[in-house]
Amino acid sequence: MPEGDTVWLSAKRMHEALAGDVLTTTDFRVPRHATADLTGRTVCEVVPRGKHMFTRLDDGLTIHTHFKMTGSWRIVDIGKRWNGGPAHEIRIVLGTERRTAIGYRIPVIEIIDTDRESDIVARLGPDLLGPEWDLDEAVRRLREQPDREIGEALLDQRNLAGIGNVYKTEALFLIGLTPWTAVGDVAKLDRLVALSQQLMSANRDHWPQATTGNIRRGEEHYVYGRGGAPCRRCGTRIRRAMQGPKAEDRVSFWCPSCQAGPAPMPAATTPA
Ligand SMILES: [Zn+2]
Repeated sequence: MPEGDTVWLSAKRMHEALAGDVLTTTDFRVPRHATADLTGRTVCEVVPRGKHMFTRLDDGLTIHTHFKMTGSWRIVDIGKRWNGGPAHEIRIVLGTERRTAIGYRIPVIEIIDTDRESDIVARLGPDLLGPEWDLDEAVRRLREQPDREIGEALLDQRNLAGIGNVYKTEALFLIGLTPWTAVGDVAKLDRLVALSQQLMSANRDHWPQATTGNIRRGEEHYVYGRGGAPCRRCGTRIRRAMQGPKAEDRVSFWCPSCQAGPAPMPAATTPA
């Protein structure tokens, strides 16, 4: 699932590609806005808020998109062919005289009044990559539910916005606690949140993501995606298990030696 840093980088590229230019083509391939035509408007700016993206136009409208599990924006120069995948999975096209932005497999697309963006943002906790990042407020929100498992609480965008499963998993490894630890038992909650923010900040300007500092394929993460492989620190086999109700988005990895705290019995784990 794309995390906040992916959305941040994507918004930056969208902004560079479209801001200041007039839309010459718009194509909304979603039932709700199938007849919408926003040509003639100028793109003012493209901004990320948590995992949401707002493409602001000069007439007080905003195109709100959210990648969820599948989405992405691709920029194609005029005259170049689209070769990014099946065309029927394209959900939105925004074109200027210079470039075309193609929204691929994006599940959330809506046209809203720009001053209604705040309704969406109001539901979010402090934005890890936002201009008003507030560590104390994020920690305060997490502490309101001390019995909740930290792995679940960190992913709740009402506590802090932008974090996803990769950074959750890696930050918990670095702090030495399992994802099943109760929030109330995390002694260094502020350090954990600061660490999550630092990992995302360090990755927001480039791809691929790497929490280890090494972007070589297979070396990017400490435990994420490494079920069954030896821990980089101690050699113990990394374990993998599902956490929470939406299992496909909630696979957790941890080192049973480096990370203290509760964890599922081995029978409940699945191989990598
Ligand atoms: Zn270890």
